[in-house]
Amino acid sequence: MGDLLVVGSVALDSVQTPFGKVEDVLGGSATFFSYAASFFTRVRLVATIGDDFPAAHVVLLRERGVDVTGLTQAHGRTFRWSGRYGYDLNEAQTLDTQLNVFAEFRPSLGDGLRRVPYVFLANIDPELQLDVVTQMAERPRLVALDTMNFWIQGKRPALRRVLREVDVITINDAEARQLAEEPNLVKAARVIASMGPRIVVIKRGEYGAVLVADGAFFIVPAFPLESVYDPTGAGDTFAGGFMGYLAGQEELDRAAMRRAMVYGSVMASFTVEDFSLNRLTRLTPPEIQERYAAFHELVRLEG
Ligand code: AMP
Repeated sequence: MGDLLVVGSVALDSVQTPFGKVEDVLGGSATFFSYAASFFTRVRLVATIGDDFPAAHVVLLRERGVDVTGLTQAHGRTFRWSGRYGYDLNEAQTLDTQLNVFAEFRPSLGDGLRRVPYVFLANIDPELQLDVVTQMAERPRLVALDTMNFWIQGKRPALRRVLREVDVITINDAEARQLAEEPNLVKAARVIASMGPRIVVIKRGEYGAVLVADGAFFIVPAFPLESVYDPTGAGDTFAGGFMGYLAGQEELDRAAMRRAMVYGSVMASFTVEDFSLNRLTRLTPPEIQERYAAFHELVRLEG
């Protein structure tokens, strides 16, 4: 089992969905990712928080075994994101993004972190993502990256630079179209692969996820749920399940990638059942295995 390094946002989110509203709750791409991946492997988190960040949130991550020594506290306010979803929960409408302490953050990886075999560059400024990959002392076994419209629009050249350094990209469908400047998703996956990542994972919310590797497709559905309250963090949790599972595998072959896609879907299906990390904090390993088994039944073609 290999250590999994993640850099990304640790945030306080304010979210409104048709089913409720929360303010300044625990969020952030690296937070959802770390928590989900911690069910599979040892996660080492690199991020920054402000002096307003509740200590209990750090305890929550530490208690799951996440190594938080790379989580630095700076003077100022924590990263904040606020967003809203309508009845179509597939699309988040960003109301406000405040980088706050992330505006000045420059991670410095200690020796232990520079040799970690698995790296996830969670959604954050692509310049920060690049900063982290260039500090690695040796080529990791697998580097994956996630991004979003905010950075595709605002930092495209830096994003294109870091994309050359990664093996996998996880991205949602609207953002894949935006990054590739191509409305057809099949073509968009090919365009994105030509930017660097040999594996392209497109997340499609309630419609599941698509993996494209060397021109071959693999598709998993989303778990059918009647109780979806807040999709925030689903993408990052998917990536946590996907990368966390792979970090425990001997072979990173096609079969492992396919199973990782299912673990990603399994983990994301829990996150959306409640606001913030609330459902994840009640999650148990047997529930993960149970839902994984249910996926077999969902997609079985014969018998
Ligand atoms: P998702 O998994 O795509 O739903 O990601 C949701 C998380 O992304 C939220 O908890 C936010 O705090 C975080 N987030 C939103 N916008 C940004 C951004 N521009 N950079 C980094 N993280 C963000």
